[in-house]
Amino acid sequence: MTQRSTISIIIPTCNRLNTLFPLLDSLALQKESPLYEIDVVTSDDGKRDDTAQIQQLYPWVRYLRGPQRGPSSNRNNGARSTTGDLLLFLDDDCIASPTLLSSYVREWNENPNVSVFEGRITAIGTRTSHAEECPVNETGGYLWSCNLAILRSTFMSLGGFEERFRFPAMEDVDFRERLMERKTLIKFVPDAQVFHAWEIRTGWKRIRHYLFSKMFFAQLHPVKGSLKLSYFIKTRVREILYNGILSWNVYRFRGVSQLLLGIANDWRLALFGQFPALGRWYIARAKPCCAGCEAMLTTLRQAPVPVVAEVRR
Ligand SMILES: [Zn+2]
Repeated sequence: MTQRSTISIIIPTCNRLNTLFPLLDSLALQKESPLYEIDVVTSDDGKRDDTAQIQQLYPWVRYLRGPQRGPSSNRNNGARSTTGDLLLFLDDDCIASPTLLSSYVREWNENPNVSVFEGRITAIGTRTSHAEECPVNETGGYLWSCNLAILRSTFMSLGGFEERFRFPAMEDVDFRERLMERKTLIKFVPDAQVFHAWEIRTGWKRIRHYLFSKMFFAQLHPVKGSLKLSYFIKTRVREILYNGILSWNVYRFRGVSQLLLGIANDWRLALFGQFPALGRWYIARAKPCCAGCEAMLTTLRQAPVPVVAEVRR
């Protein structure tokens, strides 16, 4: 067996055994192979210690307690404990296709000049509500962190995921941007497929966390395009038309409050982009709703000029 054939699989989780178990079951079916060896680690950011259950049911999985500072830190925590030359990041709410690992390993062996491999993400079922989300990636280009493989050396030289992102928002876009800035070769591997359910995402807190994440992203990547009202109108109106009007006969009122909250949030970002002083004023007086917010507000306040930018997600 060559040195190239150990693949370390990192699964960040947060006391979600109900979603984690189906993923581990799907990996169990492909853990034995003449092509590769696997090393699976799950880093759990939850308050409860599930070590005993994991050890009993999945003795081939290493279970770590997470640092409880958001998904970026949790992924880095898992990655630091591994030794494989290829790191595969999977989210705990995915299910691996039977060809996931063999496809990655094949591409890895055949493309020594490529350092990042992007897997395919297919939605399970159809969307039935404005509030349902799924990180679909059927043709590549998104590099969502729920299914991506990267050479250890590239990941380490990049410094991993940016830990100042405290929520599951924009941290993967930042990761992709930093890879693009370095002109890293990224290859889409359609056979490296996972399945991901549509999940209801609601609440004002979540919208607010997204706003902080986007503002921080803008501080890190101002060139990506600061959001002016004109840009917002051009891109968001199209989305609102599609989601709000063209899909009306499918979703009706299901999740419409989340759609409206999202639109309101986007308008707020657009205003901050147009009038940066307003953004600074908002950040200066915003009250944190959790420890993550507190950390992100501190980060945002430290920046010399908080600006707001927009990226296409
Ligand atoms: Zn909060």
